[in-house]
Amino acid sequence: MDASMFRAWIHEAARLVVDNADHLTRLDSAVGDADHGINMRRGLQAAVAMLDETNPPTPGAVLATVGRALISKTGGASGPLYGTGFRQAAGTLGEDPDVSAEQLGAALAAALAGIQRIGAALEGDKTMIDALGPAVASYQAVIDTGGDLSNATRAAFDAAVRGLKQTAGMQARKGRASYLGARTIGHEDPGAASTVLILSALATVTAASGRRSEWPGAGAAS
Ligand code: ADP
Ligand code: MG
Repeated sequence: MDASMFRAWIHEAARLVVDNADHLTRLDSAVGDADHGINMRRGLQAAVAMLDETNPPTPGAVLATVGRALISKTGGASGPLYGTGFRQAAGTLGEDPDVSAEQLGAALAAALAGIQRIGAALEGDKTMIDALGPAVASYQAVIDTGGDLSNATRAAFDAAVRGLKQTAGMQARKGRASYLGARTIGHEDPGAASTVLILSALATVTAASGRRSEWPGAGAAS
């Protein structure tokens, strides 16, 4: 994956977030303050604008730029959390012009660790971690058993969707939603939903470039 593929990922993520901003905001109106779609749209549009303006030459530079844009423009708790995730991911990629599926796995794991370091959420707390945690584990499991990039990103997306659905049964223990206590049960977490969109975009751009895989897990994932 080179810088242009990472830029395509963020462009696609921004498109999905803009298309689904009302849905994200509706989810946040049930458990929070009805701004998650607005926050994420503002942040990702700023990220795309900054990428178009500066044209970062490496995958690491692309993700560092996205992280900066999200931290400075998103607003809400989700901005610093996602921004830190992208910046930590950027740090693992260094200045390599082309990154492997294994490197992307390490970057995703670093994003998860960075978000958990500043947000202190565990799986089960009803946050974006409930989508991202299983996604990172599934990505790695596919790579460890010989799958390729497109298999791994597809598995990550599928795991994130399952995680998102599970958040509906959870009571929020972190962030603004935690103030509502048991009233959050029955609603999906907005941040888990935006994580699904970002991973959906990753699966889309990596599938488009990927060849057909012989890996036996590929059929099971779809
Ligand atoms: P705010 O809560 O400030 O209005 P947003 O509405 O943009 O910010 O984002 C809310 C989302 O942020 C939640 O749905 C949840 O997924 C995520 N979130 C909140 N606090 C944490 C945390 N400590 N760790 C991980 N994710 C969190
Ligand atoms: Mg909110």
